[in-house]
Amino acid sequence: CGIIGILGGHEVSPQLVEALKRLEYRGYDSAGVATVDGSGRLDRRRAVGKLVNLSDRLVHEPLTGHAGIGHTRWATHGAATEANAHPHRRGPVAVVHNGIIENFRELRDEVVALGMQPESQTDTETVALLTAWHMGQGMDPVAAARATLRRLHGAFALAFLFEGEPDLMIGARKGSPLAVGHGESEMFLGSDAIALAPFTDRITYLDDGDHVVIRRAGAQIFDADGRPANREIQQIDVGA
Ligand code: GLU
Repeated sequence: CGIIGILGGHEVSPQLVEALKRLEYRGYDSAGVATVDGSGRLDRRRAVGKLVNLSDRLVHEPLTGHAGIGHTRWATHGAATEANAHPHRRGPVAVVHNGIIENFRELRDEVVALGMQPESQTDTETVALLTAWHMGQGMDPVAAARATLRRLHGAFALAFLFEGEPDLMIGARKGSPLAVGHGESEMFLGSDAIALAPFTDRITYLDDGDHVVIRRAGAQIFDADGRPANREIQQIDVGA
């Protein structure tokens, strides 16, 4: 129900949780974060219930890394359990998602036929499975995410993070809002400007069908046809 992503200059897990708190107003039943550390290691923590459960988990089992994604979930497919909480991960890919992947049953049947076993009841996990499968076929993370995005029907905002890629985050939106935040050698993704307010007031709203490839040096936005797109950077006053 809420998405945050950070390519930062220091430990991001406290910032991810801080941003998720600012998205609490949307409602949620569980939450989670994933990070990539300096050596490229991807890891995640998830917890059912209030964000304090996630922060407690992070106290006992800290996550290090300067790159990360976070999520508050409002379950649509699958009960509010830790296994169904986001980020969903398969192999080198972690994904958070707002909305609904309408054709997830078809996609799930497809990945099962390819020999992959889902670990959750969510529509979201199929996005991680399909992307991991594409990478297993030799695609790089950007190509794999694009190949997956082309297959998705429904309304969604998505953020992807990858093992071995501490300077890469991919975002996509169709029907659900998603904004890119521009910092000083730091970049952000968020469901709205409110989530990003502690970090930056320079925001680019993605258009419907856009996806964005984000590195600390900047963001490249592509439209629904995969063509490079120019979207303006707006100076937002949300009162951090
Ligand atoms: N459909 C996804 C799920 O049930 C995402 C729900 C949301 O927007 O939080 O896990």
